[in-house]
Amino acid sequence: MTQEKPSLDELTERLLQFRDARDWRQFHSLKDLMLSLSLEASELLELTQWKPADDFETDAHKEPMQQRLKEECADVLLYLLLIAERAGIDLQQAAADKINANELKYPVEKSRGTAAKYTEL
Ligand SMILES: [Mg+2]
Repeated sequence: MTQEKPSLDELTERLLQFRDARDWRQFHSLKDLMLSLSLEASELLELTQWKPADDFETDAHKEPMQQRLKEECADVLLYLLLIAERAGIDLQQAAADKINANELKYPVEKSRGTAAKYTEL
């Protein structure tokens, strides 16, 4: 029996329950949530430290690295959800809007196969 994956809204609700049960809202200023996101993103990046890019690509699909990668990705997502909730941002809509904007900035005919910034296309 497979368990249905929670939506972003459901994850946010669980996070708020977790936070409030511990009376931690007082520590979760928007500034500190953003700082924590950056720290967790650094923990994610730290997994690659001193490893050749190709080796890391291979390791990322195997244990124990996959588990560590999974945990740091989750930490990043969970802080991002808390930031969005705190700032009143609809994260799914914001992400969809950003993809739409990027599609306009990087039309396939101009950007395919090049890493150039949109201002250089
Ligand atoms: Mg972490």
